Amino acid sequence: MIELKNITKQYESKKRNVLAVNQVDFKVYKGEIFGMVGYSGAGKSTLLRLLNGLEKPTSGEILVNRQPVAELKGKMLRNFRQEVGMIFQHFNLLWSRTVLENIMLPMELVKIPKAEREARALELVELVGLTGREHAYPSELSGGQKQRVGIARALANNPKILLCDEATSALDPQTTDEVLDLLKKVNKELGITIVLITHEMHVIRKICDKVAVMENGKIVETGSVIEVFSHP
Ligand code: ADP
Ligand code: ADP
Repeated sequence: MIELKNITKQYESKKRNVLAVNQVDFKVYKGEIFGMVGYSGAGKSTLLRLLNGLEKPTSGEILVNRQPVAELKGKMLRNFRQEVGMIFQHFNLLWSRTVLENIMLPMELVKIPKAEREARALELVELVGLTGREHAYPSELSGGQKQRVGIARALANNPKILLCDEATSALDPQTTDEVLDLLKKVNKELGITIVLITHEMHVIRKICDKVAVMENGKIVETGSVIEVFSHP
């Protein structure tokens, strides 16, 4: 479903060049939960931005659903963005809009009719366990509830892949586990492939099937979570 072939990303600035991602290869298969773990600065966010086409690699090829992400433009790129949902550490909700309005936003952008948007948003509210909070504003919600809205919004246009950028790093341990359980449910029940980045081993152990450990732009270890963590 996702294939990275010898990906390198170098940021160039006047002061210095940074090799954020250095010759990375991996594959993520349909239905997997794939985690990338590593310290701050390891290159995890850069990889995520490469996967959704927000950045272009300096060299190498990225295929998502058989499409070469770096070459997509215009309408193709807009269609591609709908196949990939994303959630964030700080939720990135619109504070002046209600739960339901936040969830409907991606559907508005692709001009789904209002009645259909509402019906779909209400289904998603139920899926993420926020029934009764449809008309609340983000400021009235707990962190875990805000992330549930983030997840519902990411699913609005029926993506095949969900990218999670430190999605539980702003949450307490119990709320983290609840959000991880929801991600697992989304993976199992909707068959959505999940790629997540985190600096927390707990997140990897709790929900990931595969893991890539990153250091200084390189993958230093990769495999199933059981394999990687059973090393002496
Ligand atoms: P992580 O997500 O693992 O913390 P990042 O991908 O954010 O790592 O960063 C990897 C390296 O690339 C770091 O040295 C960071 O400072 C650098 N970097 C990230 N984004 C940019 C950017 N837009 N411009 C220049 N350097 C960047
Ligand atoms: P971060 O800590 O990542 O900078 P926040 O979690 O504070 O971000 O906010 C996430 C997004 O929501 C940002 O784009 C920010 O501009 C916006 N935002 C945060 N708080 C408010 C607010 N009270 N009103 C409007 N927008 C907000």
